[in-house]
Amino acid sequence: MNHVITIDGPTGSGKSTVSRLLAKRLQSPYLDTGAMYRVVALALKQAGIGLHDKAAISKICNELDIRFVPEGDATGVYLGRDDVTETIREPDIDLLASDVSALEGVRSAMTRIQRKIGSQGPLVAEGRDMGTVVFPEAQYKFYIDASLETRIDRRFQERQQRGESISREKIREDLIKRDHQDMHRSIAPLKPAKDATIIDTTELSLDQVVEKILREIEKD
Ligand code: C5P
Repeated sequence: MNHVITIDGPTGSGKSTVSRLLAKRLQSPYLDTGAMYRVVALALKQAGIGLHDKAAISKICNELDIRFVPEGDATGVYLGRDDVTETIREPDIDLLASDVSALEGVRSAMTRIQRKIGSQGPLVAEGRDMGTVVFPEAQYKFYIDASLETRIDRRFQERQQRGESISREKIREDLIKRDHQDMHRSIAPLKPAKDATIIDTTELSLDQVVEKILREIEKD
């Protein structure tokens, strides 16, 4: 699967925007794996299933009817017939997705689906473990990062643009908690792959990051 380009990084690093822009420039499909964990979190929440109910979680994951539907420059996310594009971005799903993503049964089910998608052709795959676990043999791996304050700012602006009234302090608290969980879990923790190119986006516009990645790819 060396035709897959992996983009990993923490919350607010800019990796989603960069991945989407990159996929567009390369005319390649884009896979938002964070959205997959968010959909699982939402499905568990809607079904009232707790994190200890391994059998029920496994059943939900195996029967998960998740679809990504291109809608212009954006992508709609569907759970069955329901358009959950907005719902999965709600603040309570942020942390729940992180809790859910630490579970072995959930990770193995998502990894299986992601590899299947990756086996179908070129892909820009964005997440936390794309370069380390899901596509370790990918030829191009990037780890996108930024300073804590920059990441908090980006999240804050994103939330404000969505019309949410949330304090910067609460954003900081949630972001630190979520990244700590994602980096310290026992399975597939967030970290750069040994062979990933690390890009710090603190002082760069996201368009500049895309250009940097394209230059790396075009070098070969
Ligand atoms: O990227 P996004 O913020 O949408 O991801 C939501 C959560 O899903 C992350 O905090 C992380 O816990 C989980 N995730 C993961 N592995 C991935 C992508 C996302 O564990 N490949």
